[in-house]
Amino acid sequence: MSAPSGHIIIVVGAGPAGMAVANMMAKAGHEVIVLNRDIKFGGLAEYGIFPNKLKLRGGLRKTYWEILDRPNVHYLGNVSVGQNKDVTVEELRMLGASAIVFATGAQGTKTIGVEGDSAKGVFHAKDVVYHFNQLPGFGDRPFDMGKHVAVIGVGDVMVDIAHWLIRYKKVERVTAIARRGPAERKYNPKEIRAICSNMDLEGLKKEFDRVRQRLEAVGQKPDDLFKGITDEFTKCEPTTSTTRISFRFLASPKRVLVDASNRVRALEIEETKLEPKGEDTAAVGLKQFYEFPVDSVVFAVGDRVDETVGLPYKGGVFVTNPNKTLNDPDDSLFQAYDEASGKIVEGVFLAGWARKASEGLVGVAKRDGEWCAEVVTRHLGTKSSRSQGTAEEILRKLHRILKERGAHAVDVKGLRTLESAEKEHNGPGDCIGEFKFSTNNDMLATIENRAGKSHASSTH
Ligand SMILES: Cc1cc2nc3c(=O)[nH]c(=O)nc-3n(C[C@H](O)[C@H](O)[C@H](O)COP(=O)(O)OP(=O)(O)OC[C@H]3O[C@@H](n4cnc5c(N)ncnc54)[C@H](O)[C@@H]3O)c2cc1C
Repeated sequence: MSAPSGHIIIVVGAGPAGMAVANMMAKAGHEVIVLNRDIKFGGLAEYGIFPNKLKLRGGLRKTYWEILDRPNVHYLGNVSVGQNKDVTVEELRMLGASAIVFATGAQGTKTIGVEGDSAKGVFHAKDVVYHFNQLPGFGDRPFDMGKHVAVIGVGDVMVDIAHWLIRYKKVERVTAIARRGPAERKYNPKEIRAICSNMDLEGLKKEFDRVRQRLEAVGQKPDDLFKGITDEFTKCEPTTSTTRISFRFLASPKRVLVDASNRVRALEIEETKLEPKGEDTAAVGLKQFYEFPVDSVVFAVGDRVDETVGLPYKGGVFVTNPNKTLNDPDDSLFQAYDEASGKIVEGVFLAGWARKASEGLVGVAKRDGEWCAEVVTRHLGTKSSRSQGTAEEILRKLHRILKERGAHAVDVKGLRTLESAEKEHNGPGDCIGEFKFSTNNDMLATIENRAGKSHASSTH
């Protein structure tokens, strides 16, 4: 680590992007204060990545512990930043840190704005993913999926949702609905291995025949595409249910149709055709509609940022500086920008999915955090003074605000207590435990209880 710099950096969000920023800033000798909405660090690495990816999740966890164990990194979990939350952006800006980085991910929900999308049986992928990864607030909520589930979208998140439906819900059928065709599928071929044992190959063949002419009309070769898609169904993981997976291509959901109790009974779908659009294709509606019976619908069409954080926001994203710089990486892409005043929000930066919602895997978010750290370093180079006060002083002011709001922040010591309590439930040898406390109250009570006990034993 470099010599102490006198700069204090606040990082909001402890997912892959925020942790990468914290790592780089701490290595450069700055004091880093990490604030995180969830008690635990990791973001979607903890509460998004499919639970059985033990190696990936375990490795990330180990890396993040190493970052948080640095003496110049100060972690406060269970602290939400935003309007009507534990601390506001303005309050953070008044604390006197040299820079604040928002790496809060994409917490808002994106819908495609169809009628009936708030009916019973309509779900948003992120909520489902948070549910099966037991994020407090989601873990203990029922997700009643019925027998036939339509997942809107054909990316990796669709695969994860289908995987959960196969493995845990054991539904009869999952249909992935795509506005465009098989050539435009977005999932990673490696990911499909998790679900390809359950693929309805007969159904897939029929689906290709159904859309054959429309694919050929734009020069695509359905037989080659069929071979391409099915060639990826190798090394399929053994299945644990009889769930059938199918695709519905060139299908644009128009309405969610409900029964008398406002429960999903079908999707109204419009047939589409493909039209060339530069290098890519676009789906164009054919004004032919049909009903597709399903019991529930999961929208897996990406996310948007959470506008209640209180940063300048427009159309699903936080606004960044439109005035490009010649630097690489370009500073403007990471700088929060206030369109009303036409000025950058001095000292406030964005990284990861907070900057580009739903963009890429953990490695992409990490790299984004590292680029952001480079931009922050350039910013620090332009400042004539250091932070106003020491990390301890800034933390004291912060704790005062949190106390006023009745917030219960959890530090690294609390996290260690929690980790050992969860490990006991799992027994020895379980490298990444299945057991997680599913509510914040259970976590806080466990931490307090154990802290009380160790205090009692140390005073006897
Ligand atoms: C379903 C799903 C499965 C995935 N599977 C994989 C996979 O298998 N492999 C892979 O490499 N990538 C996977 N990814 C992608 C990967 O998870 C993301 O690329 C990465 O997590 C994005 O990192 P981030 O730090 O920008 O945001 P996030 O991971 O979302 O982290 C955001 C953090 O900010 C905190 N936060 C949010 N709002 C506030 C607030 N107001 N105040 C304070 N803190 C706040 C949250 O608590 C969270 O800790 C998956 C993503 C999803 C959605």
